Amino acid sequence: MIFKRFRIWIAVLVGLLATGGVQAQDLLARQAPIDKKLRAIDSVALQRQIVREQMEHPGYGLYPTWDNDRVHVYADVAVPDTFVIDLRGFSMPTKNERITSKFGYRRRFRRQHKGLDVKVQIGDTIYAAFDGKIRVVADQGRRKGYGKYVVIRHDNGLETIYGHLSKHLVIENEYVRSGQPIGLGGNTGRSTGPHLHFETRLIGQELNPELLFDFPNQDVTGDSYTYYSPKAKRKAAQLARAKGEKVPDGLDVRYYKVRKGDTLSKIAHRYGVSINELCRLNNIKRTTILRLGQLIRYS
Ligand SMILES: [Zn+2]
Repeated sequence: MIFKRFRIWIAVLVGLLATGGVQAQDLLARQAPIDKKLRAIDSVALQRQIVREQMEHPGYGLYPTWDNDRVHVYADVAVPDTFVIDLRGFSMPTKNERITSKFGYRRRFRRQHKGLDVKVQIGDTIYAAFDGKIRVVADQGRRKGYGKYVVIRHDNGLETIYGHLSKHLVIENEYVRSGQPIGLGGNTGRSTGPHLHFETRLIGQELNPELLFDFPNQDVTGDSYTYYSPKAKRKAAQLARAKGEKVPDGLDVRYYKVRKGDTLSKIAHRYGVSINELCRLNNIKRTTILRLGQLIRYS
């Protein structure tokens, strides 16, 4: 659909360039309609600008609005079934490699941890993960939320959030390059020690940053990451199962409800996964005691 539109515009542009000389003579010869023609050229220039921007920033089409106030402003925005996030041109947000808290459910706080915590020292430089435009620069104050934080909307469609900073180095609506310093590490907000709280979102949907970034190896997980909406995931998994094919990695999410007498090793054995894998999927330890009725993800 988008490409079709591109093609039409490219055809229009080529046509315009080809006939440009003739039109210019025409304009000189007949002064009257010049205003109208200028307006037409103007709107073509504008359209050309839009085409160029869309080609340079494939992700921008995902977002209907630009908002400097809040992190998640996309409750009403439709999420595509699938979207490929280009990870080339990345920069690691911090040179630190140690993850202190993973993405996922935190039993201690009975809430979802929507990002990844990476150890930093106060004053360590924090870098933009990709090229993009600074959407939010804010301070939630002491002991509240993100503290000092920055949100960037990247050209690849991803939004990244950097929390608990000690200092901002950018302003809203500023365009930044991948690897450009955007703030300094800190301990502001709801934080119990200096660390970077790093989130990766697509139209407000939280993605586990570890699916994209490998902090211990200071690398990305691949050239691109394919996002599937929860609905698309279910559909793709159903389809693969119906065809008797192997469900692609990361698509099939399945849970088992803990019954009396269950242990991690029993569940692992039943579904042919390792205990380590169960621990990883559920963000729990081998020593974690299972509760009756608890949902354990095994795939
Ligand atoms: Zn965190």
